[in-house]
Amino acid sequence: MGRLDGKVALITGGASGMGMVASRLFAAEGARVVLTDVADEAGERVAAEIRDAGGEAHYVHADVSVEADAAGMVRAAVERFGGLHVLYNNAGVMLPDDGSVTTTDEAIWDRTLAINVKGVAFGCKHGIPAMLDSGGGSIINVASFVAWMGAATSQTAYTASKGAVLSMTREIAVEYARKGIRCNALCPGPIETPLLMQLLADEAARQRRFVHIPMGRLGRAEELARAALFLASDDSSFMTGASLIVDGGITAAYVTPLD
Ligand code: NAD
Repeated sequence: MGRLDGKVALITGGASGMGMVASRLFAAEGARVVLTDVADEAGERVAAEIRDAGGEAHYVHADVSVEADAAGMVRAAVERFGGLHVLYNNAGVMLPDDGSVTTTDEAIWDRTLAINVKGVAFGCKHGIPAMLDSGGGSIINVASFVAWMGAATSQTAYTASKGAVLSMTREIAVEYARKGIRCNALCPGPIETPLLMQLLADEAARQRRFVHIPMGRLGRAEELARAALFLASDDSSFMTGASLIVDGGITAAYVTPLD
């Protein structure tokens, strides 16, 4: 018995990092998975690996910042697998030139908000009607611990985008609470994925961040995928509008251990 038996799950940004690991885990737990991305070769590969392992998966190209693509990915899930029960809005970017509020260019703001905020909104806009038709379901919107904590090593557009995801999630949760749709935010701490590794390639930047993590290590994509599985499954049936923080203790800390 899988925890997602009989469910159709749509995962954006499924070609890499946490989305890729979650696609595998959700399929192993019995979901029929539609994974989407803009990295088509990698996305097709993840879907093929899942099928080779005996799961059901289908890759669809969808740039989440383009509304027609968001509509298309939902249509693909419904046409291919007959409905939609889990929508995991995971795709997101942290752009290299995103920095202090005094230096960040308008183009960085536009691209970050288009993908991280409008991308989540478009997923919900087109996913919710399909979920209502399917008898309800669970939406997981990926925010971040930076939606809760400020950093002096700032990435202002990214941080603002994740705050928007958090507040949008609450509003969607309240609006659809009596219609069978739950909507929660997942707030990862620093997780070892390609998105973060580009930032931590510099050893000094790495150490500066590590010191603030009570557990003293980065999280693993598997640890986040398990939290996403909890939100996706009926195990979290009385949870909506919540923020699940999975961050090795960062948001709990005032002073971290010395050793
Ligand atoms: P990742 O870069 O490994 O994977 C993100 C995926 O999203 C990539 O496959 C990428 O091609 C895809 N993507 C980018 N733009 C897209 C678009 N416009 N449309 C569709 N797909 C697109 O990153 P990750 O670390 O696995 O991040 C997943 C989510 O978790 C993101 O929303 C990120 O902001 C969030 N997050 C990550 C961390 C971390 O430390 N890694 C921490 C907090 C939150």
